[in-house]
Amino acid sequence: MMGNALLVDDARFDHHAPLGHHPERPERLTAARAGLQGASATFQRIAPRPATDEELARVHDPRFVASLAKLRGESGYLDPDTYVSAESVDVARLAAGSLVAMVDALLDGPTQRGIALLRPPGHHARPARAMGFCLLNNIAIAAAHARARGLGRVAIVDWDVHHGNGTQEMFWREPGVLYVSTHQFPFYPGTGDVEEVGEGPGKGYTVNVPLIAGGGDDVYAGAFERIVLPVVEAYAPELVLVSAGFDAAARDPLAQMQVSSGAFGWMARGLARIADATAKGRMALVLEGGYDLVALEGGVRAAVDGMVAGKADEMVQPALDDEGVERAARVAQKAWAGVG
Ligand SMILES: [Zn+2]
Repeated sequence: MMGNALLVDDARFDHHAPLGHHPERPERLTAARAGLQGASATFQRIAPRPATDEELARVHDPRFVASLAKLRGESGYLDPDTYVSAESVDVARLAAGSLVAMVDALLDGPTQRGIALLRPPGHHARPARAMGFCLLNNIAIAAAHARARGLGRVAIVDWDVHHGNGTQEMFWREPGVLYVSTHQFPFYPGTGDVEEVGEGPGKGYTVNVPLIAGGGDDVYAGAFERIVLPVVEAYAPELVLVSAGFDAAARDPLAQMQVSSGAFGWMARGLARIADATAKGRMALVLEGGYDLVALEGGVRAAVDGMVAGKADEMVQPALDDEGVERAARVAQKAWAGVG
């Protein structure tokens, strides 16, 4: 079965480029685009446009946005991991704004699915600081836009191997955005333990599933079947956004998880079923990390097949003895008992 999906992609995203060697490089999008080529979907392009100050200000400090603007034309490092090149600031605004345009298109219909091949990535970007290869938090800007358009419940599922500390921070006290993350732990950036559940009205709407290094498809199957899918389903989101990193793949050079490319297919398919049930089918995959080009290509193809065509390998038998999954299940159950 072929299905339709909206696509955000632009040649200008390649203009964010490191001076020397860096894992977050333009070749990543070449690999992701190759993944789309073999996928069971036809794509309809969203016209790219930069994010407005108002859209950014929903999650970022305007003083931070102004300080980024001063870096236009400059190149160098903002921290040991995070670089800017001459066009990076404009590219980051273009990436974020184009994802906002995709959210508008999903809300206005009729196409229900989308994939955004964005660079630079976003989920480590904090309200007032660039971090971890990320300048602006694309998915958070998009979720905040969906809320501003009137949606009551937006789910962000973050299967990137790193914890999305920036996204968590932005919606820490916000029940209108559910943030659920699976990630290697302990690992960069250090956050994402099970006890981090949000605060105030947001308590229970941050759900972290820290996973011990070395876990493979069976551990992710356990995490998805026992926590991620039941929690997202109970939340009944009106839009499902995925921080789709592909760095949990076995081949990835930056992390130590052992996930197969096919696993991203059943992760996406499980979430798409929930989107069909509660969100009028509205779901988007938003590229975050993924630094092995072969794994990235295969992961993108599998995830699009799972999301758009419902096509995926069977989920493997879940492992029931991963300590991170067990602890997260206990905490999530407790937090959600109080949420109701
Ligand atoms: Zn990552």
